[in-house]
Amino acid sequence: MQGCIFCKIVNKEIPAEIVYENDNVLVFKDIKPSAPVHLLLIPKKHIPTLFDLEEADSGPLGDLHLAAAHVAREMGLEKGFRLVSNCNQDAGQLVFHIHYHLMAGRTLHWPPG
Ligand code: 5GP
Ligand code: ZN
Repeated sequence: MQGCIFCKIVNKEIPAEIVYENDNVLVFKDIKPSAPVHLLLIPKKHIPTLFDLEEADSGPLGDLHLAAAHVAREMGLEKGFRLVSNCNQDAGQLVFHIHYHLMAGRTLHWPPG
């Protein structure tokens, strides 16, 4: 989608440190990490929020979870990681292309602020 920063990363129009990619999913480093490991996992399809998901998106979203486990294993994160998605303003969503934050490498407190 025009004007979407994450679509631009999918289309390689702007750079990102990509750590994993398949037909449906892209995983890259967050530009402003808030943990030693802070990745963003996105479906390649532009979907603004979790409220916009359709039945047909369940496959790619399943792939995204498989990618999370794959990348976490590859990075040796067996001690644990957090996978979290912010939806809309109260959760602090800033980029309106569905994404999951994968965070690890320090103790992650619960509940988040
Ligand atoms: P949100 O608040 O929408 O859940 O998170 C958006 C995330 O995207 C933030 O953690 C922010 O640092 C990251 N981000 C925003 N723009 C870019 C960018 O151009 N490149 C990368 N790699 N990350 C970005
Ligand atoms: Zn997009």
